[in-house]
Amino acid sequence: MMAPEEARDEPSRRTIYRARVLDTPDDPFAGGALRSGDDVGIVVADDGTITARGDFTAVRADHAGEAVVDLRDGVLIPGLVDTHVHYPQVRAIGALGMPLLEWLEKCALPEECKLAAPDYARAVAAEFCSGLVAAGTTTALVFGSHFAAAVDALFTEAARLGLRVTSGLVVSDRELPGDLLTTPQRAYDEAVDLAERWHGTGRSRYAVTPRFSLSASEPILDACSAVLDATPGALFTSHVNENTAEVEYVGTLFPDASDYVDTYHRHGLLKARSVLAHNVHPTDPELDVLAGRRTAVAHCPSSNSALGSGLFPLARHLGAGVPVALGSDVGAGTGFSIFKEGLQAYFMQRLLDTSGHPLSPTHLLWLATRAGALALGLDDQVGDLSVGKQFDAVCVRPPGGTALNVGLRHCDSDEEALGKIFALGGDADVADVWIGGWQLVSGGFVRAPLSWT
Ligand SMILES: [Zn+2]
Repeated sequence: MMAPEEARDEPSRRTIYRARVLDTPDDPFAGGALRSGDDVGIVVADDGTITARGDFTAVRADHAGEAVVDLRDGVLIPGLVDTHVHYPQVRAIGALGMPLLEWLEKCALPEECKLAAPDYARAVAAEFCSGLVAAGTTTALVFGSHFAAAVDALFTEAARLGLRVTSGLVVSDRELPGDLLTTPQRAYDEAVDLAERWHGTGRSRYAVTPRFSLSASEPILDACSAVLDATPGALFTSHVNENTAEVEYVGTLFPDASDYVDTYHRHGLLKARSVLAHNVHPTDPELDVLAGRRTAVAHCPSSNSALGSGLFPLARHLGAGVPVALGSDVGAGTGFSIFKEGLQAYFMQRLLDTSGHPLSPTHLLWLATRAGALALGLDDQVGDLSVGKQFDAVCVRPPGGTALNVGLRHCDSDEEALGKIFALGGDADVADVWIGGWQLVSGGFVRAPLSWT
């Protein structure tokens, strides 16, 4: 604690955020409860670290000289974590009415080809990053581009804003338009070059990213494994078991693999901090392998609904011990909002009736924050608002006259307030966003700093 004498002589070096705070440090699927307080003080140091937390009156008494930011007209939650989102597809959001393979061919892949042009890629990178933060997403595992210069543009923009982005070069050597294909050697060389530049630089990390087994031969998956070996601490991400036609086709392409999960596992690509998107149609042996490898699944319910991919078997994942978090899967997903993904996840489990897992608002907040941080190996830094964590936070402050504004003023419990945020909340309700103590969104507007450092 800073002595009052020092506080009078020096500029304030800490800030106290006063707010109604909701977060989930303990797993509600294992009995953890929502942590909440109506008048909490969170003390944040200049480096973005939370140094104290408690009842505001007590915190204020211990930090008499510090500035106070009063957020009691909103609800403060941890920054949201998106574990699966495609940077080149921000302009492709909203193309409805197609199943996966048709949507890829007609919508997503033609747009992704355009990122070959560096100027186009830089513009999309700016749109993508601002879309994330405007939705309250502060940490993301981002599916990159097939073009190295475009991936570099993403990392550059994310670093400018201070976003916690893990991403990488997307690689494929078959089944896609020719402009998106590469060779195993080129895939390795370009990935290692990008990883050397960005992995561990500021808040950026590298993710080895074959698009999916359907478009990745055994040699290019071997190249991916070699990049992982050459890049300690790198993540791995791809797609799995999204659509029944896709699963069937992958089976014909890998006659020696026991199943879709095995197409990655046999190349040594599954480990803790590997994240596979979707897994709507897993077999029990596949779930056992994922659990054994501590590989997480990014559940993307809006995308699964929009493409008609299927109802996610959450109960089977939980039963097998597979970690699950949420992803928006933009642009098959219908927007950046992780609130919407939480609500759609809730809907899906309801529609599964007796085979669904009932989800409470506390479950949804966990899936939207700390579960994502755990999946990405960032749980020691973000995911909740405990002492020692970085102040990555979102203040939800809905405009007057909206149903969410009315609801938050008239609810009886914190759990009920959280339910209203997931049911009614969207980008327009994300009023303020901080990453590492740096305020990036203020009053609903994304700031454009020259650099966060
Ligand atoms: Zn995807």
